[in-house]
This record gives sequence, structure tokens and C-alpha cells, in this order.
Amino acid sequence: MGRAAYGWLLLVTLVLVGLAMAVVPWGLPVGPLSGSVDPSAGLDTEALKEIADYRSRAVPLGLLAQAVSVLTALLLALTSWGARLVRSLPGQRWWPVQLALAVVVLVIIGRLAVLPLTVPLEVARRKAGLSTRSWPQWALDVAREMLVESVGTVVVVAVLVGLARWGRRGWWLLASTLAGLLVVAGSYLYPLLVEPIFNSFEPLDESPLRTSLLDLADRDGLAIHEVLRVDASRRTTAVNAYVSGLGTTRRLVVYDTLLNQATSSEVRLVVAHELGHAAENDVRNGTALGALGAVSGVTVLVLVAGAGPVRRRAGVAGVHSVQAVPLLVGLATVGMLVVLPVQNAMSRAIETRADIHALELTNDDVTFVAMQQRFAVSNLTDPDPPRWLYAWFASHPSPAERVALAERWAMAR
Ligand SMILES: [Zn+2]
Repeated sequence: MGRAAYGWLLLVTLVLVGLAMAVVPWGLPVGPLSGSVDPSAGLDTEALKEIADYRSRAVPLGLLAQAVSVLTALLLALTSWGARLVRSLPGQRWWPVQLALAVVVLVIIGRLAVLPLTVPLEVARRKAGLSTRSWPQWALDVAREMLVESVGTVVVVAVLVGLARWGRRGWWLLASTLAGLLVVAGSYLYPLLVEPIFNSFEPLDESPLRTSLLDLADRDGLAIHEVLRVDASRRTTAVNAYVSGLGTTRRLVVYDTLLNQATSSEVRLVVAHELGHAAENDVRNGTALGALGAVSGVTVLVLVAGAGPVRRRAGVAGVHSVQAVPLLVGLATVGMLVVLPVQNAMSRAIETRADIHALELTNDDVTFVAMQQRFAVSNLTDPDPPRWLYAWFASHPSPAERVALAERWAMAR
């Protein structure tokens, strides 16, 4: 592979950077919309204190859990412990069985390592009223997450190891391309195949709200053929809405949690924000960026995991060996954490554009500000988080920024 793989990596990365420059609105917010931000987001001292109290307990636990999970993954990747662990597993006669077992064991170890932190975190979330789950429900959710994580990891790692074992020239090219295609397939199939398994969708009854939502889409030049209500409350208290499908199948899906908790003006604002994503093709662009990221990520993974010093340190013969699974999983874990700030910077710019779209479509900055404040209080979100925490982990602008954006938008109007 060698030189060809570096060439491929350079090519894909250039396309990725070019696309990111083209589709991410880096310049936002601009002109009258930029400037200083009130860090309180207009919240009163009592609310700010309640948020700060919760954050002072939850944030250190969350960060420590993040650190422990990365260190555990690295320890199994870059010492011979990981390879030895895989050798000790049954299923040696057929490599896919051994690989699946290795992934499941790694997922279990990862969860057990952070358990002393995730349990107190759940206790803190309960005390603060953020979590309403019983402990059996919590355990079931953790098990479900582990299942999803295991299945996803097995598919990707099996493709990688399987192609390496096949070992034809350019196997890594095929592996990285397949990783990109998996991202595209996942993005299209998830709402079509997976969501209907977990939730049921029903048309939203004729109502003034439904009419006003269709009217919003119409003013946006987006033909919506159906407004659906999804029973998301079975799983979550989070509120959301999204637009899916194209052309004559385009539909607007609204979470029942949103319909139950929010006022009509708030629902209109959330929907207008989602229409902003649809108008700018953010899902399509995000999928393309994610797919290119997966292609270059897998190429880097193959290059690093296949490098002599790394292989020797991990005590594995190469990517074709099932014993390389802890190395691959560990490197991927670290890699995803490293690229998170870039990914979130793009996400925040795109979300800001959708916020501006929502303000322009509804002309309702007053509700926008009130809603940001209400959501910050009910989700105990820091209105103005520490800069590095924000840069690394925030996928959306902070509540303080969103409030400031709406206020400046109203002044510039
Ligand atoms: Zn959004």
C-alpha cells in the first residue's frame, strides 16, 4: 500500500476540505449579527445557580468518564494486553466468530471501566430531574446502547479485517470506500428502516397549528405533502422535528414531546429551524462530509495500525489478524475524539444558519429568546460554557450565543 495509500489520503482529504469550505457557512454570524455575548443569556441568578450546581457535579464526572474510556482503549490498543485478550477467547476456528466476540468483550470492558463514573452521573441527573428512568430502565438502556455499539463496530471491523485477509492489491482502497458507502447507506436507511421499528408515525390532525406549519413551509418554497406526529416520548423527553424525503414524498415529522411541551409559536420556530436545514440541504451535505471523513479515517487507521512500530508495540502481525481488533478499535476511539472539535465547529456554523433562517421565516425573535432560555433551564445547559469545553463538545451554538443572535437580528431588522 505505502505510497498509493498516502496519495489516496491526500486526494480524499483535499476533496473533504474543499467540500467543507463550500458547504459550511464559516462566515456566520456576520456583520450586525456578530459581537459580544451576554454570558447569562438573560437568565436570572436563581436559574444560573441551579444550572451551575448541576454542572459542577456532572461535568467533571462526564469528562473523567471520557478520559477513562480513551485510556482504557489505548491501553488495550498499544500494549500486548489487547492481543493476548483476543487469543484467550474461544472461537479460534472461524475468524468472524472470534472477531465478533473480541468486539463484544471490548465493549463490555469499556462500559465496566466507566461504571464508577456513569452511575454517580445518573444519580446527579436524577436529583436534577433530568432523568426519569428507574435503575432497571437505565440498565436496559445501557444494554441497548452496548448492542448498537457492538453491531456497528462488528460490521465495520469485519469489513476491514476481512478485506485485509483477502489481501489483494488495493484492499485498503476498497475498505475505505466501503466505509464511506456505509455512512451514506446509514444516513438514508435509518429514517426509512430503523425509525419505524422503534416508533409509530401518524398524520397530524387538521388543526390551526398544522395549517400554520404547512403555511411556513409554503412561504419557504418547500412543498410538504404530509405532517406526521411521531411518538418519540416512548424513549426520550428531548424535543425535535425534521424534514425527510424528496419531491412528492417530502414530509414533516414532529416529535410528540415537542407538541406536548411547547406552545404553537415554539413549535413553529423549531419547525422553521428544520426547514432551514432542508432549504440548505444540510442532511445531504452532512452525509457527504461524513462519508469522506470515514474514507480518510479508515485510510489513516489502516496506515497507522499497519505501521511496523505500532504493530510490534501491540504484538500483532497486521490488520488481517483478529488480534488487531483492540488496536483498530482503540485507534478509532482516539481518532474520533481528536476530530470532534472540527466536526462540531462545522455543526455550529450550520446550526447558526438554520437559526437565522428560523428568525427570518417566523419574524418571532421574542419567542426565539424565550424558548432558548426555557430549554437552557429545563435541560440545565450552561448558557456560556468554558471555551475549550464548548470548542470540543458543543454541536450547537451556546444558549447565550443564540439569545444574542436573535437580539441582534431584531435590532438589525
Ligand atoms: Zn438544527
